[in-house]
Amino acid sequence: MPPLALFDLDNTLIDRLGAFRLWAAEFAAGRGLGQDAVRWLVRLDADGSVPMDVFFARVRERFGLAEPVGELWRDYRGRLPYLVECRGGVLAGLDRLRAAGWAVGIVTNGMADNQTGKIRRTGLAGRVDGWAISGAEGVRKPDTRLFEIAAVRCGAVLEGGWMVGDDPDKDVAGGHAAGLRTIWIDRGTGVPAPTADLAVDDVLAAVEALIRMSGGGDAR
Ligand SMILES: [Mg+2]
Repeated sequence: MPPLALFDLDNTLIDRLGAFRLWAAEFAAGRGLGQDAVRWLVRLDADGSVPMDVFFARVRERFGLAEPVGELWRDYRGRLPYLVECRGGVLAGLDRLRAAGWAVGIVTNGMADNQTGKIRRTGLAGRVDGWAISGAEGVRKPDTRLFEIAAVRCGAVLEGGWMVGDDPDKDVAGGHAAGLRTIWIDRGTGVPAPTADLAVDDVLAAVEALIRMSGGGDAR
């Protein structure tokens, strides 16, 4: 069985914050809300830490919008996949990781339509063996069950595997509790560093570290 490398999606494989900033600028421009609104939206989102139903309830109230919260949120989920991208080199890095014998998967919290759209639009869908999305499975990171689902989709087991992600609790603590070794992506946001097996400053460095572990050759 191949060794397993699981990756978080938002702000690990893809630049979710960059996409959110683009969305906020579009949203404000489309409604004539101005630059202050863009900054307010980005601040309110707090790097994705606010549940989006709560976020859009606040947005609706602040700007006196007529659309129901559900509609604002749905429009956002429909648009975001078109605004996200992988950092340069990520897709090729995943190809090399798989060529080195790893099973590669994505484990992510979020709505199924939004996360699936991002995975497909960025080209990640063709670069991984499987994925597990909380909104589709009814269980969220850090719950071990979401990691287990991802492992099964990848034709692998958690034992001996690794989890790569930027969130200290959902990715690092969650991955550790699931029996995985962990690589923390330190985005320089000032959050306290978790106890990970390795800390790097971007996902490409994590991919390189995993490839080195397998000797750069066939690990199967
Ligand atoms: Mg993340």
